[in-house]
Parts: sequence; C-alpha cells; structure tokens
Amino acid sequence: MRISKYVILIAVLILFLQPATAQDIEYISTQPWDHSPITVFIDEVNVPERYSPTYKEQVDIALEYWERGGNGKLFYTPVFEVVDDPDADIYIRWIENLEEVEGADEGVAGYAAPTFVGDKFLHVDIVLEVGNYQGFSWVQYGDANMQELAKHELGHALGLGHSSDQSDIMFPTYEQRDNLNPILLSRTLPYIAAISVVIISIIVYHTISWRVMKKRREEIEEEVFKR
Ligand SMILES: [Zn+2]
Repeated sequence: MRISKYVILIAVLILFLQPATAQDIEYISTQPWDHSPITVFIDEVNVPERYSPTYKEQVDIALEYWERGGNGKLFYTPVFEVVDDPDADIYIRWIENLEEVEGADEGVAGYAAPTFVGDKFLHVDIVLEVGNYQGFSWVQYGDANMQELAKHELGHALGLGHSSDQSDIMFPTYEQRDNLNPILLSRTLPYIAAISVVIISIIVYHTISWRVMKKRREEIEEEVFKR
C-alpha cells in the first residue's frame, strides 16, 4: 500500500519533469534575423584595463563556430560580416567585471541583450567580462574561457536560449542568471510551476499520511485504554 503510493508519487514527478528534459534547448526566436549577413562590431577601443588583445581572436573563432553550424541547434546557417560600424547588428564589448561595473549578480560572466521588433532582433548588445574575483583574488579569463563565453553569448544573439544538456555550449555555465529578456523567464516559469506542484504534493502527501497515522494511533489508543 505504502510502496504503491510512492510509485505514484515518483510517476507524477517524472511526468512533470518530462517536458524539461525532452526538449533540451530553449529558443528566444528560431529566425531572429530578417537579413544576411549579420553585421558585427567588435569594440577594441573602449576596452578595460585588463583586456587581452588575444580576446578578439576568440570572438573570431566563435563567429566561425556558428557559421559552421555551431551546436547544430540553429534552423539556419548564419553568415557574419565584421564591420567597423558601431551601428552593426551585434555590438560586442568587454568590461572589467560585470558585478563591479554593471552591478550584475555573482556568477554572471557575460550577457546578450537583444532589442526586438516583433519576433525579430533589431540589435544585440554582447558584454563580456575579462575576469572575476574569487574571494579577494582577481582571476583573469584565459583565451579558452573567453572563446566559450563568446560562443555562448553569440548563441543567444542567434536566437538560442539555454540548454539543459551540460555538454551543449548553451548550457548556462558562465552566467547562471540571465539578464537576457523576459521571454526566457516566461519559458522557464512553467518548470518553476511544475516543480512547485511536485513540492506541494509531497507536503500534502506527508501531511495526509501523518493525519492517517495519527487517527490510527488514536483508534488503537482508544481500543487499548477501553479494555
Ligand atoms: Zn546564457
């Protein structure tokens, strides 16, 4: 009897968590750009003190990565054109430390902020930090780190949201929290709601079983003391 109740509970849990695992990636938009090539401006002038000139190369590699298909989750093949024009479609810049400069939450290493016209991107600002404080010591991001970060943020600029697959570049390793846009939040809300339902049902289940036990105990006590 008790075992079957747990089986039902686990089944309900699996059923609720299914949509989160079945679709491993979210989309901000599957076709965010209405033109090609997508122009990119990389700001190498207004750079922070700890900027490394090798970072630009990492962005170039990241752009190539997506042009070659990236993580395979795009419904189109992007073509980029790096231009010397700040009004480009995608503006990429570096800052010293997000927490310090922009007051971002801890763990956020970069962000991509799109502005929309309907479901199309008008412009995307990408901000990458060059390092982070771990305790009181400054840790500068290496090129490999920067490359991963650039790939991840560019993925957002191409319409991809986050992936639940840890091996995917869109898995939120670098920015645990997103200052991305409210669309992503509205997509994660159903999961939050589902998890809440599961937690509430566990609490309800335990409350009920506690009451049943209490009632039984009272019955037994009554029996015992009557005799
Ligand atoms: Zn992200």
